[in-house]
Amino acid sequence: MRILVIEDERQLAGHITRALARHGHCVSAQDDGAAGLKVALAEAPDLVVLDLNLPGLDGLGVLAQLRAAQSPVRVLVLTARGEVENRVKGLQAGADDYMAKPFSMDELVARVEALGRRATSAAPSDLLRVADLVMDVRHRRVTRAGRAVALSPREFDVLQVLMQEPGRPFSRTELCERVWQRDHEYDTRTVEIFITRLRKKIDPTAAAPLIQTLRGVGYTIQAPA
Ligand code: CA
Repeated sequence: MRILVIEDERQLAGHITRALARHGHCVSAQDDGAAGLKVALAEAPDLVVLDLNLPGLDGLGVLAQLRAAQSPVRVLVLTARGEVENRVKGLQAGADDYMAKPFSMDELVARVEALGRRATSAAPSDLLRVADLVMDVRHRRVTRAGRAVALSPREFDVLQVLMQEPGRPFSRTELCERVWQRDHEYDTRTVEIFITRLRKKIDPTAAAPLIQTLRGVGYTIQAPA
């Protein structure tokens, strides 16, 4: 993958860059938010490792502008230890995953590579439909009533899991396992944030929502009765 690291701690940025390069990735680094954003938009890397606390423009600002520009880049956010609120804000702003500092380079590489993989390994049929919501799995495109819906990679992955089995309930834990494929402790709050993000894009009017909450169970997607 082509990866851009935006991190102002030079030593940490160097460690990250070398660890990812050793695993065969093509890595570049920027130490300033505004400069990082410019490079991310100009060079369209596959993935950005984004520190939140940055000079120039902070990480949340970088993320907001990337998503406003409808960049499909995958974003892994780095947060300082214990900054739960920043993690939540990062996910709400369009990040695909997050890591709290300090972390091991092995874990960082594993997360980056998991983010580069598709959510589902089974060969899905090319087009998934629920009512007027259509997903083109091969080209990673989604339309609702014929209008394009811009989703981040992880939003797409969550929606794909739901749309492959319309009407089947998925617990937060199962969605977390299917999409994030983590073998360590995960956080089901992350799933809730992604469902909220998806609803804003897929079901902007609450009249007949496709994504439904099943109290005490989780979520499902189905055409309104
Ligand atoms: Ca920093």
